[in-house]
Amino acid sequence: MSDCIFCKILRGEIETEFLYRDDICSIFPDANPKANTHLLIVPKKHISTIADMEEGDEKIVGHLVLCAKNIAEKLNLKGYTLQINVGKEGGQEIFHVHIHLMSNFG
Ligand code: AMP
Ligand code: ZN
Repeated sequence: MSDCIFCKILRGEIETEFLYRDDICSIFPDANPKANTHLLIVPKKHISTIADMEEGDEKIVGHLVLCAKNIAEKLNLKGYTLQINVGKEGGQEIFHVHIHLMSNFG
């Protein structure tokens, strides 16, 4: 998606510091952190919201959760919150699926 901020980040058109990348997802810091550690786990595939998930996308979302767990281990986070906002009324501002990983215990 040409206008999507997260697609632009993944294409390298907006600068960030990637903590992790693979063929399916990337992890980078939230620009307005709401916890000491606040990362975004973002799939390469542009899916606007969880409400738009299609058959097969569960593999991607499962992978995002696994990568969240792996980066939390790597950063020695003792506990953390994973959050997905769905839809405008659900607090979603960027319409490219992502998981927030937030922790004050790292
Ligand atoms: P959501 O409300 O779930 O859509 O979350 C979107 C998140 O993206 C917010 O927490 C923003 O702080 C964050 N954000 C917006 N622009 C950027 C950016 N350029 N780089 C990193 N995070 C961003
Ligand atoms: Zn996108």
